[in-house]
Amino acid sequence: MNRFENQAAIVTGAGRGIGEAIAKRLAGEGAKIAVVSRTESNSVRTAEAINAAHPGCARPYAVDVADFDAVQKTGEQIIADFGRCDVLVNNAGITRDTLAMRMSSEDWDVVLDTNLKGAFNFIRSMLRPMVKQRSGRIINISSVSGLMGLAGQANYAASKAGLIGMSKSIAREIASRGITVNVIAPGFIETDMTSVLGEEVRKGALAQIPLSKFGAGEDIAAAVAFLASPEASFITGQVLAVDGGMSM
Ligand code: NAP
Repeated sequence: MNRFENQAAIVTGAGRGIGEAIAKRLAGEGAKIAVVSRTESNSVRTAEAINAAHPGCARPYAVDVADFDAVQKTGEQIIADFGRCDVLVNNAGITRDTLAMRMSSEDWDVVLDTNLKGAFNFIRSMLRPMVKQRSGRIINISSVSGLMGLAGQANYAASKAGLIGMSKSIAREIASRGITVNVIAPGFIETDMTSVLGEEVRKGALAQIPLSKFGAGEDIAAAVAFLASPEASFITGQVLAVDGGMSM
C-alpha cells in the first residue's frame, strides 16, 4: 500500500523506539520523512536506515522539542526541504519517575516541557503550513498513564493527560481547515523506556494487561498509519488506546 505517496511526515523522537517504528512504517507506505530526534547521531541512524530501503526518502533533524525558538526554526527548515507537511506525529517523550513526595521541581519541569510543551511547539510550527494546505493530520502520542494515572508518574501522567486536552482544543480550532488531531495512548511497549523497569515492576504491569504481553513499536506505528490515512478522515479529537486492554 502506498497510502502516503507525495506526502511528507514529521516524526519526533524518531531516533529510536516507537518513533523509529512509526517513521519506518510511514516511509514504507510512501511518505517522505523528517526524522526528528534530540541526539543527532540517532536521527541520522534512523534516516540512513530508511534511505537504505527507500532511497532519498528521509532527512535527519536534531532539535530539543522543548525549545520553542529552535523548533520554529527546524519547522521552517523542514518546510523548506519538503515543501509541505501532511502528517505530524508528536512522539518525543521522557520519564523521570519518582513518588510525588520526592519529585523535584526539575523532574516536573523537564517532563512537562518535553512531553507537553514539545508537542505544542511542533504543532505551533506546522499550523500555518497545514492551514495553508487546508489539510493535515496531527497525531500526539500520549500514554495509558495519562488515562489511568500510574504511581510514580505524577509529572509524566500530567503531561500525557495534558496532551489529550490540548489535542481536543486544537482539533476544534482547526477542524474547519481539513486538519484532524488525534491521540494514541500506548500501554507498555518494549523500548529503551521500558527496558529500565525491574522484574517486579514488569510482573506487576503484565498482571494488569488483559492480553498478557508488552506491545511492540510496530503496534503503535500501525495505529498511527491508520489515523494518518484517508480511512480516518472523519475521526478527530479522539484517543485510541493501544495497550493490550490495560485501560479498558
Ligand atoms: P524512547 O525509546 O526512550 O525514545 C524516546 C525518543 O524521544 C528518542 O528518540 C529521543 O531522542 C526523543 N526525545 C526525548 N526527549 C527529547 C527532546 N527533548 N527533544 C527531542 N527528542 C527527544 O521512548 P519510547 O518508548 O519509544 O517512547 C516514545 C513515546 O511513546 C514517548 O512519548 C513515550 O512517552 C510514549 N509511550 C511509551 C510507552 C512505552 O512503554 N515505551 C508507553 C506509553 C507511551 P534521542 O534518541 O535523540 O535521545
